[in-house]
Amino acid sequence: RPGQDAESELIARRVRVLGPSYRLFYRQPLEIVRGHGTRLWDAEGREYLDVYNNVASVGHTHPHVVEAIARQAAVLTTHTRYLDRGIVAYAERLLALLPDPIDRAVFTCSGSEANDLAVRVARAATGQRGVIVTEEAYHGNTALVTGMSPSLGVGVGPEVVTVPAPDPMAAPHRSFAAGVRAGIERLAAQGLRPAALLLDSILSSDGVHPALDLAEAVAAVRAAGGVVIADEVQPGFGRTGSAMWGFARHDVVPEIVTLGKPMGNGMPIAAVLAQAAVLEPFSAGEPYFNTFGGTQVSIAAADAVLDVLEREGLQAHAAAVGRELRALLDELAVVHRSIADVRGDGLFIGLQLREDDGSPGTALAADVINLLRQRGVLTSVCGAHGDTLKLRPPLPFSRADAARLADELDGVLGDLEA
Ligand code: PMP
Repeated sequence: RPGQDAESELIARRVRVLGPSYRLFYRQPLEIVRGHGTRLWDAEGREYLDVYNNVASVGHTHPHVVEAIARQAAVLTTHTRYLDRGIVAYAERLLALLPDPIDRAVFTCSGSEANDLAVRVARAATGQRGVIVTEEAYHGNTALVTGMSPSLGVGVGPEVVTVPAPDPMAAPHRSFAAGVRAGIERLAAQGLRPAALLLDSILSSDGVHPALDLAEAVAAVRAAGGVVIADEVQPGFGRTGSAMWGFARHDVVPEIVTLGKPMGNGMPIAAVLAQAAVLEPFSAGEPYFNTFGGTQVSIAAADAVLDVLEREGLQAHAAAVGRELRALLDELAVVHRSIADVRGDGLFIGLQLREDDGSPGTALAADVINLLRQRGVLTSVCGAHGDTLKLRPPLPFSRADAARLADELDGVLGDLEA
């Protein structure tokens, strides 16, 4: 294959200087050099349909966001210890998109920092220590939240318990709330009470589960004196179509909300949003400063993202195209025995695969994403068994993009089932 030697050399140099914790996607890794909208291009000029990246949520290199970043970078970027109108105006604009009780914003650079801070805030507010997360959750990479990210496979930290996510295939009648109540009891057995339920309400790394008895689980946490931290790093900013925020799909108002990935369309900006009374015990005890959190360039990007979401009606678009994509995938499920389940909301869809004997389609899913990659369609997997395709494209994903994805998937599954 042309270019193979250069590719192998780059991989070898990468391993030498970056080491083994830097993982690569695909058996034949990709060198992506350019992106626009829902498209990415590799070093040889080949075009790919992006069905995976939620960071470039309003589309790769969206001109309005690029222009806002470039314009502000040419004027000023510094930290938050000077008066600045932009950060105040953006915080007001963002908070107006949340339920009324949530009225404070703290800016960070990553979802990990936001969750780390949120847990410290919850512990200060409640005077309690326990944290409840789902069994395959990922909440970030700091020392504290690595211990709340069991999907990393290194166990959970002290004062943390895990509860099962819904699983419509293996346990169709499982109650999430009952699991949370059992988690509270396991904390009590260690002499602990819950500070927080830390939850991504679309359960992205648990395999994408849109249905959840969240209100009942939240009531149990509050009855035990804890608060709810809604990790909106994945479902937030309109992706699920039916609501701007994942928690809003369940009629729940959390005490704390964390934002990340799509917030700046690629600029490192994230946030903790909270009710002032919840934030106060932490803020009174210690100052919080984050050098790069909420710089003028990041804020300009985040503000431009909200412009695009509004002007292009991307939440409604995600709902409409997501519905059509689900219908196409449901049709495929009728003809392909390896499709076990299709579920999701808006442009966040999980497509679960099974082997012929009914066991989780782990190896099958790995084959599917690699064959799709060969056909110019990029996605990946999630869930405890890695048997669920995570379909989570940039929001401008079109009807034609959805049809293309369904066609290629049809072809790949047909080849593998033959
Ligand atoms: N929470 C969730 C639900 C995430 O998916 C991620 C990132 N995959 C994080 C937190 C951490 O965000 P970051 O990588 O920006 O630190």
